[in-house]
Amino acid sequence: MFKKILIANRGEIACRIMRTARRMGIATVAIYSDADEEALHVRMADEAVRVGPAPSVDSYLNLARIIEACRATGAEAVHPGYGFLSENPVFARELAKAGVVFIGPQPDAIAAMGDKIESKRLARAAGVSSVPGHLDVISEAETAVAIAREIGYPVIIKAAAGGGGKGMRIAGSDAAVREGLSSAASEARSSFADDRIFIEKYIEQPRHIEIQILGDNEGNIVHLGERECSIQRRHQKVLEEAPSPFLDPETREAMAGQAMALARAVDYRSAGTVEFIVDRRRNFYFLEMNTRLQVEHPVTEAVTGLDLVELMIRVAAGEPLPIAQHDVQFAGWAIEARIYAEDPTRNFLPSIGRLVRYRPPKGDGLRVDTGVYEGAEIGVHYDPLIAKLIACGGDRSTALDRLRAALDEYYIRGLQHNVAFLAAVVAKPRFRSGLISTSFLAEEFPGGFAAPCGSVGPDEVILLAAALARRRLSEREAAINGKLAGTPTGLAEDYTILLDGRPHPVSVRPEGSGYRVEIDGKARLATTDWQPGHPLLHVRIDRHVSAVQIERLPGAGFRLVHGGVIRQARVLPPRAAELLALMPEKKRPDTSRLLLSPMPGLLSAITVSVGQEVKAGEPLAIVEAMKMENVLRAERDGRIAKLRATPGDSLAVDQVILEFE
Ligand code: ADP
Ligand code: ADP
Ligand code: MG
Repeated sequence: MFKKILIANRGEIACRIMRTARRMGIATVAIYSDADEEALHVRMADEAVRVGPAPSVDSYLNLARIIEACRATGAEAVHPGYGFLSENPVFARELAKAGVVFIGPQPDAIAAMGDKIESKRLARAAGVSSVPGHLDVISEAETAVAIAREIGYPVIIKAAAGGGGKGMRIAGSDAAVREGLSSAASEARSSFADDRIFIEKYIEQPRHIEIQILGDNEGNIVHLGERECSIQRRHQKVLEEAPSPFLDPETREAMAGQAMALARAVDYRSAGTVEFIVDRRRNFYFLEMNTRLQVEHPVTEAVTGLDLVELMIRVAAGEPLPIAQHDVQFAGWAIEARIYAEDPTRNFLPSIGRLVRYRPPKGDGLRVDTGVYEGAEIGVHYDPLIAKLIACGGDRSTALDRLRAALDEYYIRGLQHNVAFLAAVVAKPRFRSGLISTSFLAEEFPGGFAAPCGSVGPDEVILLAAALARRRLSEREAAINGKLAGTPTGLAEDYTILLDGRPHPVSVRPEGSGYRVEIDGKARLATTDWQPGHPLLHVRIDRHVSAVQIERLPGAGFRLVHGGVIRQARVLPPRAAELLALMPEKKRPDTSRLLLSPMPGLLSAITVSVGQEVKAGEPLAIVEAMKMENVLRAERDGRIAKLRATPGDSLAVDQVILEFE
């Protein structure tokens, strides 16, 4: 076994790999860029080596410096994690030349599977069912149209070198094919320096289901079952679960069999994933093989009890797989949610800043894979993943209940994040029912995520929390003023709670060990142990406990978050609301005629000109931030009156880019 390994990655995955290495008695070396000097993975490692400045090309993708770091520290092997150099055959070959073991498959398997066209050819030859399509590189628009017609609409235009959901366009018509071909090619050129494009059938209402594979140097191949990753945004996974609520045993067997056949065809020797797209009739088609550890591997670990990183390390060290297929036992259900620094209410724009508060949830059946700590910075240079929250249980509904409760408890302040959005997804009855597809998010959140968006359920809890918080605050004030002694504590207090401006009459009085709370004429017995100042308020009704995140706002107000719903409440004396209702509302400046930059970034292009008529949804400008091109689109029809910024400008948040007439 290795004595020391280097982890050529950062963030949660670097930390996760170190945990296993440590348990196996292997010393760890971290690498870091100038932006990550204080990062958690650097703090966790036994040793850390600086490999360059912040941009990944100069640091986490800097082959020479990383190999040099192995030499300098005597690391015998490198685990690449996911992303970065994990699927780079040149890196694997260079390491081998330097006498360092790559903890992953052999370079030829990476190269064969790294190309979507090549891998599909291989898959066909291995008897794996593939998406109907055309495996030639297409560069002419008219050839593309002819091929798309032959395949039949809709089609999907893809980059051969694609990854991370980039370089993909769905097209339902000749015109869309022409436009999609050039935009997919240019995205592929800038993301992968490779603009080869091919076209295949777009499977409608599909599910994404993938099979986890493990292979060793003796030709043993086993599968660890499937993961369903159909909850996606822009072709990127958001929630993943194991097993899939959709597969029957026959389909599962057939998919696993084909995945193993493909792994055998490339003599696969590590952990890898064979991705499939599955249609409504359970026909399945090979998408691609990822020759690395996958972001969502923890759900497989939860249902099999295996440690995938440990198995990768053992195989790389030359050991045979310690398990045969019949040793792989599946139990329970697990689901993972990706916690991102992004603003779901502003089209998921990446958010940067300091994690002023960071309190991940703890509890039965929970696992949190984090790459950050309270006080850490999320910067512009890397993927905005903050953590992965994994909940498991004996069955799907237990796992979902735990995930839902844990999301309510997940407390992050200092930057925008997607926790409330994830909670809203999990709260959807259709998600519960398991009737999901890759179009789920687009269909269930057609206008994007606008909080508050909730139903009655979360609002009731939020009102209760606001009422209880007010009551606890007045109890504390009374205690401080020394008034409590001698005065009856059982008195009711009446309030009017304005929830996003709507008044609700409320009365709270102590009863038993808790309170009798009457809201809109309906009474409930509730208890809470909340202390003013604490960010989480737990409301208990009978045996059911709900966590509500609570923050005080100026003017007797609270900001409350529960079940994916975010609300502002003002708790006023009973008659104050009537007076308030008579007061004119404060006027906000009208910004509806302006296009504002939703985040700090670089204005890379304005795609319209003065006098041009645009329709809602048409692109107006492109802002670059966090390695992503963010297309800003018209929210309504109109004519461009004036450009107020120039491509190349650095934009501040809310800076005006252009004006409509
Ligand atoms: P998974 O299937 O494991 O979820 P993803 O496709 O979401 O994998 O990618 C995992 C990580 O690797 C993400 O951080 C993504 O941005 C990054 N990534 C994937 N492919 C590439 C690529 N070709 N180039 C750069 N980064 C990539
Ligand atoms: P990447 O390398 O970016 O992960 P994939 O080929 O794995 O690219 O596709 C990513 C996602 O795009 C899939 O999970 C699926 O949601 C969607 N997708 C890809 N190909 C198809 C297809 N032929 N039909 C329908 N959806 C597809
Ligand atoms: Mg994929």
